[in-house]
Amino acid sequence: MATFIVLLGPPGVGKGTQARILSETKKLAHISSGDLFRENIKNQTELGKVVKSYLDKGELVPDDVTIAMIRDRLFRPDCGAGAILDGFPRTPAQADALENMLKEFKGEVNAVPYITAAENILVERASGRWTCRAHGHIYHEKFNPPKQTGVCDVDGSEVYQREDDKVETVTKRIRVYIEQTMPLVEYYRKAGKLIEIDGTQAVEDVTKALLGALNK
Ligand code: ADP
Ligand code: ADP
Repeated sequence: MATFIVLLGPPGVGKGTQARILSETKKLAHISSGDLFRENIKNQTELGKVVKSYLDKGELVPDDVTIAMIRDRLFRPDCGAGAILDGFPRTPAQADALENMLKEFKGEVNAVPYITAAENILVERASGRWTCRAHGHIYHEKFNPPKQTGVCDVDGSEVYQREDDKVETVTKRIRVYIEQTMPLVEYYRKAGKLIEIDGTQAVEDVTKALLGALNK
């Protein structure tokens, strides 16, 4: 049966970094709602035009638009074995919609690692983040710089600072997370799916903790 893992946690905690590693290790598709929105903005699609102002302001894109985009992505063939969901769901309505979508795979959300760190760490991580233009590979100016400044190690494209990774917008996104996404912690705890992971550790140690918990 297909496996679906939802990575929950505040902006900047390391979800994207871990999702990429888990997706390779576990041979599951990686679905990042933020990457999908940014791709649409870059390609100037209709969806990109609708969502740009929300990303710029650090606000959530409306649920109906987000759910429709994820639905499209989930039904692509590479999700047959399951997926790592990174950045979705972010509201209770999105979580309910996900449950219904997964019924069509005769599946469900199997586990929800909840990665946490104090706010000062989140701001330091997100505001020092550099993102690759071509495929969203993730770097940090201090903690994980590319070998050559400004150039992605993997595909040679330019790395840039996301507009919404300026300190003020990061702070706003953390507030939005507390108000709109934190309720999902209780939602998945009640369902017996939540696994708490200490996100303050080094990348490799967070990965070890995740794999240890998921393989139990
Ligand atoms: P982070 O690094 O904070 O986890 P993301 O790349 O996941 O950032 O998200 C960037 C922006 O994309 C969010 O601030 C929001 O505007 C939009 N977004 C991403 N995922 C969702 C979602 N599930 N629901 C609504 N908006 C979303
Ligand atoms: P999220 O998807 O939760 O917003 P990212 O995976 O994009 O988080 O990570 C945010 C920033 O923090 C990136 O610059 C990344 O390189 C860095 N980072 C991720 N995990 C760690 C870690 N365990 N220790 C130090 N820096 C990290």
